[in-house]
Amino acid sequence: MNIILLGPPGAGKGTQAQRLVDSFGMKQLSTGDMLRAAVKAGTPVGLQAKAVMEAGGLVSDDIVSALIGEELDQMPGDQGAIFDGYPRTAPQAASLETILAARGRALSHVIELAVDEDALVERITGRFTCASCGKGYHDRFEQPAVAGTCDRCGGHEFKRRPDDNEATVRTRMAEYRTKTAPILPIYEARGIVARVDGMAAMDTVTAAIAEILAQA
Ligand code: AMP
Repeated sequence: MNIILLGPPGAGKGTQAQRLVDSFGMKQLSTGDMLRAAVKAGTPVGLQAKAVMEAGGLVSDDIVSALIGEELDQMPGDQGAIFDGYPRTAPQAASLETILAARGRALSHVIELAVDEDALVERITGRFTCASCGKGYHDRFEQPAVAGTCDRCGGHEFKRRPDDNEATVRTRMAEYRTKTAPILPIYEARGIVARVDGMAAMDTVTAAIAEILAQA
């Protein structure tokens, strides 16, 4: 199974991808995570991507497609891939076809997480994670049980993504509307798109996705 999780920033792609990893042994391929790692490590790709990411723009198609190809090359052929945050433009969608075909893979599902944009801004601007174990929290919806202490690992340091402020989030959403949403029809024509209500509770979304994948 090779699936794309599609939806604007904050729709829950990362959370749902993580759950698919846990229950189906698939691998999450998040270009956002790869780029953040590159920025942190100060690689040439990271140096190029940093300012664009902080402004909420899109990193070049060639860079992200190369990252995806490299990650796929390190996976066993029979392990399923979950594309999270990729493809985001028509050229990336075209590259993905070539990248998959060259590795004997094909897309099985495109799952669109449908969401309300204003609610998303609140969701994204409130989120933070434990700096040690990565557990996610939210100012309004999910505070640690003991303030300042991670529920999972007991860590005391938390961090926020630099691009999770309102102005950048609005730009990222506009990028999604103008460049990413238009690639859906390519997949709709193939009959592989399923829509899930991304505003529902996380467990409900996970169950809906599992049901879609079970129908394969
Ligand atoms: P994400 O974690 O998916 O929200 O991505 C964070 C940021 O990384 C985005 O706002 C973009 O600047 C950049 N990025 C991630 N994936 C892509 C992609 N497929 N194409 C272009 N830029 C990307």
